[in-house]
Amino acid sequence: MGDLLVVGSVALDSVKTPFGQATEALGGSATYFSFAASFFTTVRLVATVGEDFPGEHLALLKNRGVDLSGLQVSHGKTFRWVGEYGYDLNEARTLDTQLNVFADFKPSLPAPLRRTPFVFLANIAPELQLDVLRQMERPRLVALDTMNFWIEGKRDELLEVVAEVDVLVINDAEARQLAREPNLIKAARTILGLGPRSVVIKRGEHGALMASDGHFFFVPAYPLDSVFDPTGAGDTFAGGFMGYLARSDRIDAGALRRAIVYGAVMASFTVEDFSLNRLTRLRSEEIERRYAAFRDLVRVDL
Ligand code: AMP
Repeated sequence: MGDLLVVGSVALDSVKTPFGQATEALGGSATYFSFAASFFTTVRLVATVGEDFPGEHLALLKNRGVDLSGLQVSHGKTFRWVGEYGYDLNEARTLDTQLNVFADFKPSLPAPLRRTPFVFLANIAPELQLDVLRQMERPRLVALDTMNFWIEGKRDELLEVVAEVDVLVINDAEARQLAREPNLIKAARTILGLGPRSVVIKRGEHGALMASDGHFFFVPAYPLDSVFDPTGAGDTFAGGFMGYLARSDRIDAGALRRAIVYGAVMASFTVEDFSLNRLTRLRSEEIERRYAAFRDLVRVDL
């Protein structure tokens, strides 16, 4: 089993969906990611929070065994994100992004963290992603996520880090925006030309696809009749994906396919409630049961 390191946001999110709202709830790309991945392996979190960050949120991560030695409490306010969704839950509208303590966060990773074999550069400033990557010692697999905020605002820096990763895990709108190509299949090919060996494109309620070296693989999304809040679906998808790879300590084509299904499984739980509420009630047996349901969902020969 390999350990897994993540750098990304730890946030207080205010989110409105057609079904309700949450104010200053626990969120952030690295939070969702590490919580989901903690069901599979040991996760080391690199991030910063302000002095206003509630201790109970840290306890939640600690209780899941997440290693917080790379989490810095900085002088200032925690990262905040305000977003909303319409009936099309696939697209978040960002109303406000306050980087706060992330604006001048310069992590210096303790030696044991630098040797972590599996690395996830979750959605955060690309310079920070690159800074962490440069501190790692020969990682086995590096994957990266990003979003429109950084594709628009820091394109050059983003392309620099994308060129150095093995797998890009992004959503469909971001893939089109990054590749400057409306056709998703062509966009996937363009992204492979930027450096990564594989690209995993998340498509919300339409599932996900992976492209690598001329091969495609598709999974559906789990059919749910109640989706409350899609926030964090992408990050927990990545948590299931990387968590499974790290646990199995394999990165061959079969492991990548199974990892995508575990990603889809974890995302399907997250959206059933606000914030991390569903994940905090989740048990490992439920993950395995839903994984088995996925296999049935795509079985062609009965
Ligand atoms: P997703 O999995 O794509 O729904 O990601 C949702 C999470 O991303 C939220 O919990 C936010 O706190 C976080 N987030 C939003 N904007 C940014 C940003 N510009 N950089 C880093 N994290 C962000």
